[in-house]
Amino acid sequence: MKFWLKIAAFAILYFFPQAHAASKISFSESISASEKALVQKSLASLKERKLNPKQIPLNFKNYFQAKTLKEIEAYLNQRIHLVVSSKSRVWLKTSAPHLTVLPVMMSQGPTATNNPSLLLWLADQWNPEGTPPKEMPKVIQVGEDFGKYSPLFGLSLLVHEARHSDCESSVDTATLSQWKNSATLKDLSFALAKNSCGYSHSLCPEGSANAGKMVCDTSKKGPYAYQYVFNRTIVKSCENCSFAERALMQIFALDAASKLPLSIELRHLVDQTLEQLPALQKNTPPQELIEQVLEKTLHSVDEFLTRS
Ligand SMILES: [Zn+2]
Repeated sequence: MKFWLKIAAFAILYFFPQAHAASKISFSESISASEKALVQKSLASLKERKLNPKQIPLNFKNYFQAKTLKEIEAYLNQRIHLVVSSKSRVWLKTSAPHLTVLPVMMSQGPTATNNPSLLLWLADQWNPEGTPPKEMPKVIQVGEDFGKYSPLFGLSLLVHEARHSDCESSVDTATLSQWKNSATLKDLSFALAKNSCGYSHSLCPEGSANAGKMVCDTSKKGPYAYQYVFNRTIVKSCENCSFAERALMQIFALDAASKLPLSIELRHLVDQTLEQLPALQKNTPPQELIEQVLEKTLHSVDEFLTRS
């Protein structure tokens, strides 16, 4: 998150489209009007922005099985059913049919977005009285930091959080028991990271830019890969995005790349570029930085993901 703050200067471009996307996503009463409006403006970007079909990266088709931005609306609708405020600290009433109350898990400190769906689902699984729901509740939290970014970048955060709602491995009794017996939230995170249900983040490798933090993915199909591919698609093929918008998406693509399970050589290249970024921002013309320096590193990451 510190990295994000460092480059917040890039996030000065706020774009407020008038039209609102007809989304099936519901909003809890806990969410403020301004937070709700920001999510809706992000969703509206899906209709406002156009991709050049000839420039769409192969990874966009591979990851999202989509050819247009409009199809991302279906991806989000399937994975985000309810948006709640990050200020909902204790209990939250919901109209979700199988849950009458949701204990909302909070991440530490201010946050832009969070997906507590897996933990909420597990909490329900642990209730011996209740009938376990068949799937995760698909809830995301939106915090005040969400408003610091442009709607287009907000959209990439929603794409990331949506992936946390996917559960592609069956959860057997042994796995559930392992989760259930985790002594701390950190132990639970370790146990969850081994499973592709919810794609929880794991401890970053020793020697990497994020070493010691629980912010890395162990899967090439995790939330950071989806966010990365979405950002790169905007950078490479958005016809009506400004240079500043594409520059922001390119920089955040580099940040997302640093959390992917890359090969050692590629991780060094990404970490090195990330480390040099503040100096590069001072000394390199923006066009050259975005379209040549960062492009060179990220092209290798694109190829790495295409090979998976
Ligand atoms: Zn995440």
